[in-house]
Amino acid sequence: MSDSTEHFAPPSARSPEELAARVKAMESILVEKGIISADAIDYMSSVYENEVGPQVGAKVVARAWTDPEFKARLLQDASSACREMGATGLEGDEMIALENTDQVHNLVVCTLCSCYPWPVLGLPPNWYKSPSYRARAVREPRGVMAEFGYTPAPEVEVRVWDSSSELRYFVLPGRPNDTDGLTEGELAELVTRDSLIGVSVPRTPSEA
Ligand code: FE
Repeated sequence: MSDSTEHFAPPSARSPEELAARVKAMESILVEKGIISADAIDYMSSVYENEVGPQVGAKVVARAWTDPEFKARLLQDASSACREMGATGLEGDEMIALENTDQVHNLVVCTLCSCYPWPVLGLPPNWYKSPSYRARAVREPRGVMAEFGYTPAPEVEVRVWDSSSELRYFVLPGRPNDTDGLTEGELAELVTRDSLIGVSVPRTPSEA
């Protein structure tokens, strides 16, 4: 995460040690009361650490860049197209992919809390949940993007989309220039989490 995102740290942020202690305490109580098993917690943590994350969304985007029919299905029904690629599960029943074009740049926020398309992006970063990001993404999206190092051209229309628990958005960014010869796997490496949220755009091959 770049330094610019520090700005979005929630004012009430606790130290990692405090947070870890609170999580440990909650876990102990849930296990003690028989609400969840320690194995189930380990399993879920491992899945969201190693299997589900923005690398899944990156693969979806790379396929859309190289397979026009898949792209059409993705824009028509993102949840169903993502299921084709095994990107399914919690918090992904209703997803919409927003296509960036030369005229339109999309940015996603959850103004109410932190709704996020887990199957393609994993768990949201802390800044996405911060009151500062949730307010400023709506009021001054260009200012927010500038802090992530991205400045859309003045003539580009910026559209801000408010995710909810019923409907979660992610961005289908434009394919970077000079990527004609790249494989789908190489293209996926250019797609960052931030570009799927829309605060930024994918890396170019030279940046990667
Ligand atoms: Fe939310």
